[in-house]
Amino acid sequence: MHTSKDAMTHTLETSNSHPPTPALVLDVPKLEGFVARLQDAVDTHWPNAILSYSFKTNPLPWLIGFMRDRGLWAEVVSDTEYQLAIALGYTPEHIIYNGPIKSHQQLWSALREGSIINLDAKREVSWTAEFATRMPDASLAVGLRVNWDLEAYCPGQSTSGLEHSRFGFNAENGELDAAIQELNAAGVRIAGLHMHRNSATQSVDVYRAAATVAAEIITSRGLTLDYLDIGGGFYGSMDGAPTFHDYIAAIRKGVGNTLDIRNTTLILEPGGSLVAVPVEMHASVIDVKSVC
Ligand SMILES: *Cc1c(COP(=O)(O)O)cnc(C)c1O
Repeated sequence: MHTSKDAMTHTLETSNSHPPTPALVLDVPKLEGFVARLQDAVDTHWPNAILSYSFKTNPLPWLIGFMRDRGLWAEVVSDTEYQLAIALGYTPEHIIYNGPIKSHQQLWSALREGSIINLDAKREVSWTAEFATRMPDASLAVGLRVNWDLEAYCPGQSTSGLEHSRFGFNAENGELDAAIQELNAAGVRIAGLHMHRNSATQSVDVYRAAATVAAEIITSRGLTLDYLDIGGGFYGSMDGAPTFHDYIAAIRKGVGNTLDIRNTTLILEPGGSLVAVPVEMHASVIDVKSVC
């Protein structure tokens, strides 16, 4: 008894004065607030929505568990992250599998087990077409990541400057159409478009542009989508504009009448906009050097 009380006192004293560092310090009520505000925004503007959490933004298992318990799906960009999602209790049907480096093996199992998959490399397109011939009764459906010119729609917003993004299939040079054609020829349906881009500022115009580009592709290619995945990259300020409401309203406006929001699910993949403010990295200063 005596010993354990001492241990307890010691722990409390240690955590009050000198928490061990480095440490991630989470403000849980604040985190709750961010998730609730995003949920409220989609409930208002696009109730048929799936929220997911971008693992790569911060893969702390406690944080992932927090998001999972609030109904957010897992958004992963590697096999390792896919397996982390499974290890943390996600079922494959609640995983959104993105990124250009999917392995043959993991793609095959994700397709069979019903994950949402956005293809982002030509080999993934060929592999999926090949899988379809192995599973003729399965009616496979996948999404495609779109390479679009953010700079043309929103000058100054691209984080890669005038360099084009290296992600997705370009909609103007024929590569997106080639992917659609190869998949359709193998009996694979295009279920979604994935529009994720980083942007330089908090601008909501980027999201209106992403939705507008998606709407143009939907119309010009005659697509009927199960989902439109706008990605992440939002900024989730607490009081200042823009709010989550502003972003989701802009997306809704951008798609116009090209789709019925009751039939096409909006997918969001936030990371930083949920965790950047509530999660802090604490470290100890061990030395101060003068350099001038
Ligand atoms: C990094 C990433 C996200 C999350 O980005 P944030 O800026 O943290 O919101 C979402 N989707 C994809 C595909 C990503 O690569």
